[in-house]
Amino acid sequence: MAGKVGFVSLGCPKALVDSEQILSRLRAEGYQTAPAYQDADVVVVNTCGFITPAVEESLAAIGEALSENGKVIVTGCLGARPEVIRQAHPQVLEVTGPGEVDRVLRAVRQVVPADKNPFTALIPPQVKLTPRHYAYLKIAEGCNHRCSFCIIPRLRGLQDSRDAADILYEATRLVGTGTRELLVIAQDTSAYGMDIRHRESEYAGKKVRAHLVDLVNELAGLGAWLRLHYVYPYPHVRQLIPLMAEGKLLPYLDVPLQHASPKILRAMRRPGGAESHLETLREWRSIAPDLAIRSSFIVGFPGETEQDFELLLDFIAEARLDRVGSFTYSEVPGADANALPGAVPEEVKEERRARFMELQQRISLEKNRAKVGQTLEVIIDHYGELPGQVVGRSRYDAPGIDGLVYAETDGTVKMGDIIKVKVNRAEAYDLHGEMVGLVPWKPGVPVMGNIAIETIRV
Ligand code: SF4
Repeated sequence: MAGKVGFVSLGCPKALVDSEQILSRLRAEGYQTAPAYQDADVVVVNTCGFITPAVEESLAAIGEALSENGKVIVTGCLGARPEVIRQAHPQVLEVTGPGEVDRVLRAVRQVVPADKNPFTALIPPQVKLTPRHYAYLKIAEGCNHRCSFCIIPRLRGLQDSRDAADILYEATRLVGTGTRELLVIAQDTSAYGMDIRHRESEYAGKKVRAHLVDLVNELAGLGAWLRLHYVYPYPHVRQLIPLMAEGKLLPYLDVPLQHASPKILRAMRRPGGAESHLETLREWRSIAPDLAIRSSFIVGFPGETEQDFELLLDFIAEARLDRVGSFTYSEVPGADANALPGAVPEEVKEERRARFMELQQRISLEKNRAKVGQTLEVIIDHYGELPGQVVGRSRYDAPGIDGLVYAETDGTVKMGDIIKVKVNRAEAYDLHGEMVGLVPWKPGVPVMGNIAIETIRV
């Protein structure tokens, strides 16, 4: 075995997938992961640099790793701005940007040489940082949009889609090692394949186009729950909705709309406005009435007047979205929006966000109350505090961001099981109920073993 590497993974699911790739490569070269700073020969910190609080958290994590261990390699989104890191922490050994797996590996090898034992090559290649039963599946890197508040395209480059076959083989391995829910991600999932002109690749003896609809149709054959995140409301997204009605895709779309005022959306360089958003939602819901829509919004963007904000509230009241996240606008160093006039004072931003969330909470509670008496399929994420209690998510809830379902069971349920729960109580975000059945797991691929990995912090 080679040395031990400590790993701290910060940021969004896209960064988590980068961490999994780095850890997979380290594992393939014989490195072990260390669950504590003191046990590690070197520590890799995968940073987030999207908004100011994330930069601060990343710098604090690097500082902690330096004081606890001393040998630190930095990678990830903040790594695209090495001057920020070097100014705060000149002692770091190497700074690499997002997706620079080879450079991270080279830096690690300089501190602790890789294992020359050829048998390490036989270790399964996939390392997961999520629980065994769900996994993020990144289908493209980078982004071709130019939202004025965002620097991701500068950090991660233009969109670079993976071939469909590459994604499908990864998904097959995941489902074969116990993954029951695949969470498809990219910066803009709906734009998948456009940059490679939807080129075909060969999977299981047939050609598959790099197009989201074709990809979803193939992924559906694996038998796992399939959930789409970060979908732009493009016209072709409509083609996905019938797949929900057919049970190939979960009736869930994560569509970050950001605002509803056409003026603010123009300043953000995002498409649409309240009317076009509503029309899109109406059309989708006419095809899949139980479709759960998650969205996120920025409140207090530069130039947002009370009138713009009320347009957003009106939209929220009418759209009756199922899950909503909101952020007060905060400057991202290097973003074009920083130069926009009309900064909204912090207290106004906070007050608007509170009004926004109060309205959405009422809507969420009404929607959740309508589920009382229904029986929902629930995937179990962990055990509850009470004997026999388990905590999971319905088909309408993604991990980490949406509501939970607390269920009383006979105590035989395991993590990753999918059970049927009769809902008997609703809160604004969470549901409570009792188990009335177990859904048999029928993967569309042969099942293999899995490997576990430990990190300092995810
Ligand atoms: S779609 Fe906009 S917000 Fe999302 S990564 Fe691309 S530029 Fe950033």
